[in-house]
Amino acid sequence: MSARRRVFPSSRPCTAATGCCTTDRASALAAARNDVSNDVNKALQRAFEELADGLDLLGESSFRSASHRRVARAIGDLTAPIDQLGDDPAQLRARLEAIPGIGEGATRRILEFVEHGEIADHVEILERVPGGLFQLLQVPGLGPKAVRTLWQELGVQGVDDLRRELDSGRVESLPRMGRKTVQNLRSALEFLTRTRDRLPVALAMPLALDLRDGLRSVEPEARVEIAGSLRRGVETIGDLDLVAAHHDPAARRRLAEAFVNDGRVTDVLASGERKCSVRLSAGGHAIQADLRLGEPAAFGAALHYFTGSKEHNVLMRQIAIGFGRRLNEYGLFEGDEPRPQDHGGTPLAGAEEAELYDALGLPFIPAELREEAFDPARVGLEALRDLLARLIDEDQIVADLHTHSTASDGRHSLEELVAIARRRGLAVLAVTDHSRSSVLAGGLEIDALREHVAAIRELAAGLDDLVLLAGAEVDILPDGSLDYPDEVLAELDVVVASPHVSLSQDRATATRRLLAAIRNPHVHILGHPTGRIVGRRRGLQPDIDALCAAASEHGTALELNANPRRLDLDDAALRRAVEVGCLVAIDTDAHSDAQFGYLSYGVRTARRAGLPADSCVNTWEPERLRDWLADKSVGARGR
Ligand SMILES: [Zn+2]
Ligand SMILES: [Zn+2]
Repeated sequence: MSARRRVFPSSRPCTAATGCCTTDRASALAAARNDVSNDVNKALQRAFEELADGLDLLGESSFRSASHRRVARAIGDLTAPIDQLGDDPAQLRARLEAIPGIGEGATRRILEFVEHGEIADHVEILERVPGGLFQLLQVPGLGPKAVRTLWQELGVQGVDDLRRELDSGRVESLPRMGRKTVQNLRSALEFLTRTRDRLPVALAMPLALDLRDGLRSVEPEARVEIAGSLRRGVETIGDLDLVAAHHDPAARRRLAEAFVNDGRVTDVLASGERKCSVRLSAGGHAIQADLRLGEPAAFGAALHYFTGSKEHNVLMRQIAIGFGRRLNEYGLFEGDEPRPQDHGGTPLAGAEEAELYDALGLPFIPAELREEAFDPARVGLEALRDLLARLIDEDQIVADLHTHSTASDGRHSLEELVAIARRRGLAVLAVTDHSRSSVLAGGLEIDALREHVAAIRELAAGLDDLVLLAGAEVDILPDGSLDYPDEVLAELDVVVASPHVSLSQDRATATRRLLAAIRNPHVHILGHPTGRIVGRRRGLQPDIDALCAAASEHGTALELNANPRRLDLDDAALRRAVEVGCLVAIDTDAHSDAQFGYLSYGVRTARRAGLPADSCVNTWEPERLRDWLADKSVGARGR
């Protein structure tokens, strides 16, 4: 619940898997599965977060709440279920105490939880603090102090109360709640209401992968894939779609049974031969999931149909009609008879999606591009083929230029980061820890930064298979100045400049602020440009076209931060960048090993924007990258 107040996202287990329907990466999947099925860790993490929030709301020791928050973060980092860390309580205790951030008190509480399923302190907090207040803490701009005031002065116990009090004008009369704050609260509430019923991809993807893999394990011969907007790489999901095929009706029934009996299902809406619909609860959200079942001969047609988008399906059907054919979720049929599958019609194509495109004279259009913007009738077939040939792919990324070490708030030492980068096949890794203003994130003072840079360079000198770069993620202060002076930035190999505070500035101020960073000759990458959190915080709303124009003029790359909670810039903004031909950096902003797996979320978003590989600095050969880092004007338009 306290994620809003963390300056940086917690490092939960990796939730990434590449091209959700085609590629399996055992480790990413294992981690993804942990993310949803590791219920003990989740419940514990939540308990410690609520302990911290509760103490803050009660106005009690901030020291204790900070320590609970550290424990929650440490639990979030674990990839194994906490209750399986040891075979007996003594071993479990010893292993828990060895985890950084988990002290004696936390160990006692964790053991209490493992033993009794609850923590007495936590239960007590929940009795004293109304549940809706935890939810209010998610409203951007509302800290524990303000929520406490609203609660004590006006009796506000949740979102609805707050809306009522805002309307009555009473909030404005409270101390430190001026007209401006009230306005911000109003728009934050509106934003929350609008996004509340859609599940962020960071929660939807691990859940969908887990459902898919669960079904595959029930019937290993079956084909099971994720479809819908999730497959298209959309950042928030209305409902989940899965498509499965097996030639044996009994096997299909077993798949259906497994689906409706999943432990997370709260309601079964439909359970039939061809379709099952359920409601599931995931990460505090409720979401509907649909499973379509059919014959392998129609699998590609069903997958295509249920992947959408609607507009893309309409287009494909129209093209089919032009060929005197009919396309539906059962296949592509000769003739114009409705529901040919009911009249014994044999499809011309249907088992594979690729066959459908082929039979209609189209190149295979990947799911991320099945949107109106990439309609072949709109962009032209030749331009589409060209775009597909140049479209970025995850395999092409060889550099991560935004990562954190223990020097600030990362989990790994430099040596560990090097080992991780090697294992993940990177050719270039930049370590970019936080700058001095990011106090909560352990930002570095100038002297500490210089020591850190020296340590990175020393380590780098001994490496021949990895280019290790010394950088910083420097705060862009609210007025557009940077948190280190230029002469310090000039000493670094890579400078990522990012906004972290004052994220509700007005558009003009935000644009000026970001433009100043883009124009700084020492800044290579504008990090997470808006500072948004998907579905949670809108972040800055700069004039994207102005940013793109300046970025392109100065050779500065705009970041697509791959963390699925950020995805910043989003696909729409990135599309503008692509149109102007800006350089883009897709970085994971990893604070832990698992977070390097976020890359696939970033790449999927980049593909939705039609980003060509060549515009992405992370795909460049180390030599070319070095040239640009040495003088980014070589990346400017018209170079
Ligand atoms: Zn940042
Ligand atoms: Zn960062």
